[in-house]
Amino acid sequence: MKTPFVTKGQLEAIAAQYPTPFHIYDEKGIRENARRLKAAFAWNPGYREYFAVKATPTPAILKLLHEEGCGCDCSSMAELVMSEACGITGEDIMFSSNETPPEDFQKAAQLGAVINLDDLTLVDELETALEQLPETVCCRYNPGGVFTLGETREGFQVMDNPGDAKYGMTRPQIAEAFTRLQALGVKEFGIHAFLASNTLSNDYYPALARILFQLAVELHQETGVHIRFLNLSGGIGIPYLPDQPANDIFVIGEGVRKAYEELLVPAGMGDVALYTELGRFMLAPYGHLVTRATHEKHIYKEYIGVDACACDLMRPAMYGSYHHITVMGKETAPCDHKYDIVGSLCENNDKFAIDRVLPRIDRGDLLVIHDTGAHGHAMGYNYNGKLRSAELLLKEDGSVQLIRRAETLEDYFSTVVW
Ligand SMILES: *Cc1c(COP(=O)(O)O)cnc(C)c1O
Repeated sequence: MKTPFVTKGQLEAIAAQYPTPFHIYDEKGIRENARRLKAAFAWNPGYREYFAVKATPTPAILKLLHEEGCGCDCSSMAELVMSEACGITGEDIMFSSNETPPEDFQKAAQLGAVINLDDLTLVDELETALEQLPETVCCRYNPGGVFTLGETREGFQVMDNPGDAKYGMTRPQIAEAFTRLQALGVKEFGIHAFLASNTLSNDYYPALARILFQLAVELHQETGVHIRFLNLSGGIGIPYLPDQPANDIFVIGEGVRKAYEELLVPAGMGDVALYTELGRFMLAPYGHLVTRATHEKHIYKEYIGVDACACDLMRPAMYGSYHHITVMGKETAPCDHKYDIVGSLCENNDKFAIDRVLPRIDRGDLLVIHDTGAHGHAMGYNYNGKLRSAELLLKEDGSVQLIRRAETLEDYFSTVVW
């Protein structure tokens, strides 16, 4: 069962002020989850979460997470500028980008961010872009091949294909990068790797940690560099389906601790800090896309048209992702109708749900589309002249704060040269 974090009464009151569709985030849920994550890794004194800004690039969210001790993981100029505008600078920023333009490196260095290099060729580019290399540099590792977890919970497979991914350096390249960076005066090193996305397994981080810890010990021995931190990046998933079991962040933290004590401590590397760059895990469950049923259509299938579309949430259209839907006020009604829930784009993939069994939907019903807090509004676009929706924050005291207004036609036309 997935239960919305707002009631129908609350939503009707909110919608009277801010028309649907809108994204709404749950401050209480976000804060509690961030605290659990911090507690699960508290055994590592240098531990830090750098929120993956791309998941929800909204200043109010970045500030809220910063209050909970999180930094920002930025991947572009705009994300760097946003972090700076939120008062998040220096080593509170991890800059993990790829195909990086020199201006972005310069901005990151100006802010004092930790720079994470995606490729060996960037060692030279960084040297050219900056007057002086930073004291600390991180390199992204890609082990290649196929990454699988031996034992995962029944029915949920973790498999990804690093050998097919454009990111990171090979094993010989990362050793060469460290040696060259050291010769250029870099003093402290980090290693980053991201091997699988949206993992529903308590074993992903521990397995990734073992790979990184082993590599860190080897690189330290081969090149003599001091490795200051290891960045486990993102990839911890959330259960989008109502019957999937959620990850247990405390079991994950313990699994990583065990690997740390087995591999790093005996190598005399018990001072290494661990970083994470979670996006989905931090925000996805704490966001809803709220939309209203505006039409019904009975042709070869039963359709419910809503006032949101793929421009508000691209994941179903782009990946075929499942997002649970609650018809507000009908939580206990029998699910005796089968619908396609569709937006108004002139694209037949503009469907939030296909053949979804739901209670009868009437025009005017409010629908909550779950788990849209990450990679939801962030992936929005303007196709078909659609305007991007507002973002709201449900505060801990029950009040609602507008944290991004809806776009207007004026915004839409503002870049046109007539
Ligand atoms: C997307 C991304 C993340 C966040 O991934 P999630 O799956 O949302 O946790 C972290 N780091 C980097 C470099 C990314 O590109």
